[in-house]
Amino acid sequence: MPNGYNGKILHLDLTKGSLTTEEPKEAFYRKYLGGSAMGMHYILRDMPKGADPLSPENVLTLFTGVATGAPISGQSRLNANAKSPISGGIGDSQSGGFFPAELKFAGFDGIVVKGKSPKPVYLAIIEGKPELRDAAHLMGKLSGEVDDIIHKEVDPKAEILQHGIGAENGVLFSSLVSMSNRHNGRTGMGLVMASKNLKAVVVRGTKKVQLADPKALTALNRVGPKALPENGDMVGLAKDGTATVVLFNNTIGTLPTRNYTEGQFEGCEPISGEKMSETILKERDTCHACVVKCKRVVEINDGPYKVDPRYGGPEYETLGTFGSYCGVDNLAAVSMANQICNEYAIDTIAAGATIAFAMECYEKGVITKEQTGGLDLKFGNAEAMLKALDMLVKGEGEFGRTLGMGSERAAQK
Ligand code: SF4
Repeated sequence: MPNGYNGKILHLDLTKGSLTTEEPKEAFYRKYLGGSAMGMHYILRDMPKGADPLSPENVLTLFTGVATGAPISGQSRLNANAKSPISGGIGDSQSGGFFPAELKFAGFDGIVVKGKSPKPVYLAIIEGKPELRDAAHLMGKLSGEVDDIIHKEVDPKAEILQHGIGAENGVLFSSLVSMSNRHNGRTGMGLVMASKNLKAVVVRGTKKVQLADPKALTALNRVGPKALPENGDMVGLAKDGTATVVLFNNTIGTLPTRNYTEGQFEGCEPISGEKMSETILKERDTCHACVVKCKRVVEINDGPYKVDPRYGGPEYETLGTFGSYCGVDNLAAVSMANQICNEYAIDTIAAGATIAFAMECYEKGVITKEQTGGLDLKFGNAEAMLKALDMLVKGEGEFGRTLGMGSERAAQK
């Protein structure tokens, strides 16, 4: 077995309730390496042609890479792949955090999920032992509530990847979320997992990743912190997170503004990474073994939008879609939108962009207050934006359900 891998892939057939462990040969690992390449091997092999993305025939894969779990920056990544319910093509979405490394420590390189369980279950992999457990008590709960319940019943150090209420309400761009703030956000992978009645994957383990030359990796790892202060891009990423590019994008005319009818936003400074660092940033967070610490943790205790730090803080894409895209220059409102997306496990990019699309339709008279459920959905109306998001995640009314289908399908209506 090449270093870096466990040499084990878990196959879960939810229709049969069966769990089998495959131990592929070294050639397999050398050919596919990991991530989406490895996942696609199983999807192309096992998913029937023409399969409905939300049918038991769809195959959902969760794969780490060769370096995942090693003590070096930037390696803790998990690829989720399946046929996408949004595009009908290949869904591909990546997340960071601690779940990917913990999956390796729990003894597996990846998981292949098929079929559909007759009732909600979650998969627990504890110290190399996988089992299915009842998940009825986790349904209808916010991501943070699910985390609390599972931490109590399994292990406080367990890492949890879950779909949320957004998927239970049929939001097409539902995500998979871990730590209540790290997402496999794009392409609807949360809805695929929900369609299989698999509520969550819970991992905990203490297995070490085998390294070919641990000393060399330690030496390499020391280079990062030394080089970081001399690299302007990395300094910006560490200090202000991915939000460091808000002002830059505005300068070069690529900050998506008012449903991308413009590329510059007059209200960019209040939603910039610099402003977030100066005002509501509580702390910086990280992924397993990463020295960059680009993740934002924000907290707001006063005013109309109270924001809980457990739900992290907005990335650039979230500031772009719920901020400039919607013409909103209110950082607290954008942070609230970020929290709602994290609580309900939906993709912030698709959610914000779909609401911005609805705002343009409203401004141009394509839709009226009658269709928006009474919302004055003008660009810049933060309160209406948040109410629209609330309707979207809850699938509330015709308008909420339409928003949950994304802008392309909404346009076709
Ligand atoms: S902390 Fe930021 S830079 Fe480091 S692995 Fe996570 S996302 Fe990447």
